[in-house]
Amino acid sequence: MAGPWTEECSIMKKIGIINKIIAFSNVDGPGNRTAVFFQGCNLHCLYCHNPETIHFCVGCSACLAVCPTGALEGGHGKAVMGEGDMLQPVTWHPQKCISCDACIKACPHLASPKTRRMTAEELLTEIKKTAPYINGVSFSGGECTLQRDFLVEVIPLIRQLGLGVLLDSNGTYDFEKDPELLEMIDGVMLDIKAVDPAVCRTLTGAGPEMPIKNLKYLQSVGKLAEVRTVLLPEEGGSLPGEGQNRRSAASGRGSETILVTSSEKATSEGSFFDDDGGWHGEAVTGEGDLHPPNSMNELTVRTVASLLSPAIPYKLLRYRPFGVRQEGIDIIGNTITEESAAEALAALARSLGAENCRVV
Ligand code: SF4
Ligand code: SF4
Repeated sequence: MAGPWTEECSIMKKIGIINKIIAFSNVDGPGNRTAVFFQGCNLHCLYCHNPETIHFCVGCSACLAVCPTGALEGGHGKAVMGEGDMLQPVTWHPQKCISCDACIKACPHLASPKTRRMTAEELLTEIKKTAPYINGVSFSGGECTLQRDFLVEVIPLIRQLGLGVLLDSNGTYDFEKDPELLEMIDGVMLDIKAVDPAVCRTLTGAGPEMPIKNLKYLQSVGKLAEVRTVLLPEEGGSLPGEGQNRRSAASGRGSETILVTSSEKATSEGSFFDDDGGWHGEAVTGEGDLHPPNSMNELTVRTVASLLSPAIPYKLLRYRPFGVRQEGIDIIGNTITEESAAEALAALARSLGAENCRVV
């Protein structure tokens, strides 16, 4: 998928652009892990809770004016050279920062001025501080595979500490073409956001084909650590159930596909599944409203469950609007996915063979 990140990432070879490091995390993979969040993503998911990780700072200076402590300098559209000869439009002084996040809220570009440019050795130094207390390291983002060359440099160093490594990926990277990277990691925690091509594009900006391919491939080579799906809420705060508002919103974003009504659902499902329940990914087109959310959720859960080995963890994440940008709330809504609906889908997944499915 082409996008601004293409050029941005072309300058990233041996320097990692890192949004944040969480020293101890128990939600980014099994056990106690250090989680490294990279800056930059090639998707723009409507329910993203960290939208400031999507793009890179362009030095517009909007954030400088709101910083109460003078922790930011530079900007004015001029890139200055920082350490490692990397473009560094704004300089962040962590020692002056009080973590108020006013800069994040003020940024009109889904970026952050609070990124760090680190060599592999510098990141290793950080990880050595937590190494005695953790089970492994997880790379997340943003989308960590966009900084693949940095990963390939730093992961062997982490391995030498005796630590395992997992990648958290949106699934758009073609892992089958990168055996070198796959060889050095324990596995991939993979997002399958939606299997309906039009819904997936509306939600994320890209289709489901590569994530589905990755699910199958990574599982076949023993590198699928877990799969996650965000369950959309049945009711949208400003959206009266299914229907016109969602369709209008999707059309406004340039979505090329009109989805089907629930009365057409049986027909549409026929285009997704073969006789064994496997997904073969034909696009759905036609006039009508968006699927009701629960139909979208169910289609995705059914598909993933039909593909997944029983032991692979399958996590169903309830949509929560906290931290979601207005664009997403306008389309998805402002309510949390019902726990009972999520649990019913988890039970469905388990009944279809994904025995290790649970709601988180
Ligand atoms: S989070 Fe830090 S850099 Fe950003 S506005 Fe607040 S003090 Fe300034
Ligand atoms: S972080 Fe955002 S607001 Fe601040 S200079 Fe960069 S692009 Fe502009």
